[in-house]
Amino acid sequence: MYPKLTVNLDVLRNNVKVLNTLLRDNGIDHFAGVTKVFCGNPKIAQAYLDGGVNYLADSRIQNLKRMKDLDAPKILLRLPQISEVDEVVEYADISFNSELLTLEALNQAAKDKGKKHNVVLMVDLGDLREGFYKEEDFYEAVEKVLKMDSLYLKGIGVNLTCYGAVIPTKEILSRLDDYKNGVKEKFGFDLEIISGGNSSSVYLLGKEDLPFINNLRLGEVLILGTESAYGEVIEGTSKETWILEAEIIEIKDKPSVPTGEIGRDAFGNEPTFVDRGIRTRALIALGKQDVANDSIYPVDQDIIVLGGSSDHTILDITDCKKEYKVGDKISFLLDYVGVLMCSTSEYVTKEIK
Ligand SMILES: *Cc1c(COP(=O)(O)O)cnc(C)c1O
Repeated sequence: MYPKLTVNLDVLRNNVKVLNTLLRDNGIDHFAGVTKVFCGNPKIAQAYLDGGVNYLADSRIQNLKRMKDLDAPKILLRLPQISEVDEVVEYADISFNSELLTLEALNQAAKDKGKKHNVVLMVDLGDLREGFYKEEDFYEAVEKVLKMDSLYLKGIGVNLTCYGAVIPTKEILSRLDDYKNGVKEKFGFDLEIISGGNSSSVYLLGKEDLPFINNLRLGEVLILGTESAYGEVIEGTSKETWILEAEIIEIKDKPSVPTGEIGRDAFGNEPTFVDRGIRTRALIALGKQDVANDSIYPVDQDIIVLGGSSDHTILDITDCKKEYKVGDKISFLLDYVGVLMCSTSEYVTKEIK
């Protein structure tokens, strides 16, 4: 069935190995592989483990549940919802937190299950998504967590380049050291994990000494080989981990500008058109219910993606050297959002190679 997303595990495993070496060379020995982009598919997550990750990390408890039989500690990246604390304690070994009410609920849930649950406290160093913003709030939480019998304070972490697009620098990340030292001074407690961010921190490796972090949580750079601060490709990796194929259902020569008065398209936008004259257009059975059409990149670079609607994408194939016919499959590379959407869409068949 098409559209079909094919995952090449050899390519993925190689990407993970390249990053594993880079991390270890830079003293980062707690390597978390982020699985949310492929919805925690256990076969794909196993490739992460084969490539050397130490933890599997996801924002959603449903995904951690899918991976429960894999032999690695699981991290819940998104702050837990109080309504899900029982599942969090059941399926996550570690969760990231920034709210006392939630920490109290987690402590109670862990107590009820006779378990100990590990928590990492998030600090906000300017990106303005999650985390303690004021130092006094952070230290108050540390003091309280250290008194909660069923929670163990595993470490601290920061998330950057997500909402505010703040790029991590040595100066920003070194503030984690101040927090770590503060916890040691005030409470005599040593934090084990100092988590310095996501794929946007990778560009610093090999350039800067980062003795104050020992963990990164990586998704994008593993699945596509690009760090996310500047979009640079990491040497030795490949983006050909994921290939999307969709089938041609119509080929016809048509003008490049619609005939008639132009109103709004199926999504309420006013479209604009480039007049290239009469062109050969291919309609493929792929639409926004599968993936956004600005997240797909034809492998045949002579194809132009013109646009699409919920269930159709329109391609200009006039300049192609290959003679396409109805029934042929068109292959696409994907960006991060493309992989995410295809993984999530139940209309996209998944094949793991
Ligand atoms: C998604 C996420 C990551 C991974 O981000 P990438 O840019 O894909 O490496 C890391 N940490 C948190 C908290 C996340 O939500």
